[in-house]
Amino acid sequence: MISKKEITSLLQEKDPHILETLWQQADVVRQRNVGPAIHLRGLIEISNICRRSCCYCGLRAPNEAVKRYRMSTEEIIASARTVFDLGYGTVVMQAGEDGGITEEWLCQIISSIKSSTPLAVTLSLGERTEQELAAWKSAGADRYLLRFETSNRQLYTAIHPDFGHTVSNRIELLAKLKTMGYETGSGVMVGIPGQTYEMLTQDILLFRELDLDMIGIGPYIPHLQTPLGQIGSEQHPEQVPNTATMAYTVLALCRLVCPQANIPATTALATLNTNGYAVGLQRGANVVMPNVTPFRYRKLYEIYPEKACFSQDTIAASEVLQKLSIKNRTIGTGPGGRSKSS
Ligand code: SAH
Repeated sequence: MISKKEITSLLQEKDPHILETLWQQADVVRQRNVGPAIHLRGLIEISNICRRSCCYCGLRAPNEAVKRYRMSTEEIIASARTVFDLGYGTVVMQAGEDGGITEEWLCQIISSIKSSTPLAVTLSLGERTEQELAAWKSAGADRYLLRFETSNRQLYTAIHPDFGHTVSNRIELLAKLKTMGYETGSGVMVGIPGQTYEMLTQDILLFRELDLDMIGIGPYIPHLQTPLGQIGSEQHPEQVPNTATMAYTVLALCRLVCPQANIPATTALATLNTNGYAVGLQRGANVVMPNVTPFRYRKLYEIYPEKACFSQDTIAASEVLQKLSIKNRTIGTGPGGRSKSS
């Protein structure tokens, strides 16, 4: 088992040969533990309305430059149908923390998707009440994604202003999601201003402690219409850089520390590196989340600028390997949950 000290040291590694060895090792561990299958999750960004003011996110409530939307029931169900028709096993419904996504409304949508397709349903809707989360679970939701962004409480508080009287505690909520029976995913951004190697080491160790089913890692990308995006790039020696290389290193370390987890090659990675999906898949990742949001909405879901998407069109499961020029891998069939190795 890789030690805390080794993690901190590898995070700061500059020697390309050592990094190459780490990436190859992550690929071997991925193959041994979760096999050759790449699981596809179709992402529908159902609303960009948000009540929170996270200091890094372009969808934050105070950003008046965003044209806001919430997809209709019919549009969401039609997009979920597209996910199924494309041959993917999972639909992910993601949104800003939108109070207009009500308990009953989403229950109906989840039930409808579950009764008309074999898709696994994943939600990524921010911090919602236990009552809402339990209701959505009963309606058929299988998984929930909620990144804790950083395990360092001070940095966390600095970039996540409270909402009314609620004190934001994503780590606590993740534990609740697990007890409710959700397959639970979390993750962090790499290179948040103020994030140190020591903090990032703790993040990786917390992934293991939380025994997560999914881990999403992406580089932090500054958005000019946010407070964090406005501050300059003055770097102190402990600051983690928000580069693609750094994100690959974290991804590979996650694979070593949580060998069985589902780990996506994220859109943020593909935004910094044109071949980010393919490279991520060869450095520990086993999941891709192609964007299936109707195009007119997709461009409005601007959490950070220049977000990568495969293309304006959706891409069928059967075309993914060719599109990414990936060899010796397969496309996963079925929902591709943690316990199933299909
Ligand atoms: N409202 C949901 C979904 C947020 S978007 C929630 O709060 O969970 C999903 C993820 O995008 C976030 O968890 C964050 O890690 C990432 N993200 C947001 N802004 C970003 C930025 N500027 N650069 C990189 N990733 C960002």
